[in-house]
Amino acid sequence: MTDLTSAERLGRLRENLAAVEARIDAACAAAGRPRDEVTLVVVTKTYPASDTRLLASLGVTDVAENRDQDAAPKAEECGDLPLSWHFVGQLQTNKVRSVLRYADRVHSVDRHKLVDALSAEVVKSGRADLGCLIQVGLESETPEGAHRGGAAPSEVEALAEAVAAAPGLRLDGVMAVAPLVGPYAGDARRAFDRLAEIASRVRESHPAATMVSAGMSGDLEEAIAAGATHVRIGTAVLGARPTLR
Ligand SMILES: *Cc1c(COP(=O)(O)O)cnc(C)c1O
Repeated sequence: MTDLTSAERLGRLRENLAAVEARIDAACAAAGRPRDEVTLVVVTKTYPASDTRLLASLGVTDVAENRDQDAAPKAEECGDLPLSWHFVGQLQTNKVRSVLRYADRVHSVDRHKLVDALSAEVVKSGRADLGCLIQVGLESETPEGAHRGGAAPSEVEALAEAVAAAPGLRLDGVMAVAPLVGPYAGDARRAFDRLAEIASRVRESHPAATMVSAGMSGDLEEAIAAGATHVRIGTAVLGARPTLR
């Protein structure tokens, strides 16, 4: 794949993007939702900055990364492009300062300690406010269940409150990945319906928190049917990633 010429790579990405756009169009039509309610966020993790550049030339406006070590140099190389950068990976507090240099939004806010670290660093940096999404772990309803990433549903309201109250942070909505274990394992549609319930509860106290980030290459249709506003698509646009992640 890396020995494709840039023109060949551009052609491949154009085809893949068209196929993903067609899936999003069809899912919106099936759900009776206007197409402009759903934003495509292309997850560029593990792929080079040259791909991010090609994607921007094809009209992609939103890209996501999940590891600061990879994302920081890539974002710097692509600093001239009109892209909105989303951070979607587990975020350690010692990476917050670096992530804030390029991320417009963090989808993976899952604990109070991270809220405090993000807030302190945004204030210190003097940048405009940071959009935050609460990542919900749907493996179990309470924190007693095993969570790989994400706050339990029972913790979401307090965390949303903390983000909304934190200087420099803006509560934009909620995010989830379809869980591999627990009551929703293997049923992305029911998982995303549960996320939609949680999102609407959050909006009762925070009406501006309208983002629902859900759906990946394998389950974007289920996510759109359940009301997702942002789908995060990697593989279907860029190709299968070599192992890991
Ligand atoms: C990698 C990743 C995606 C994209 O997954 P694909 O299956 O490649 O589309 C979406 N969301 C998160 C949080 C990811 O880490």
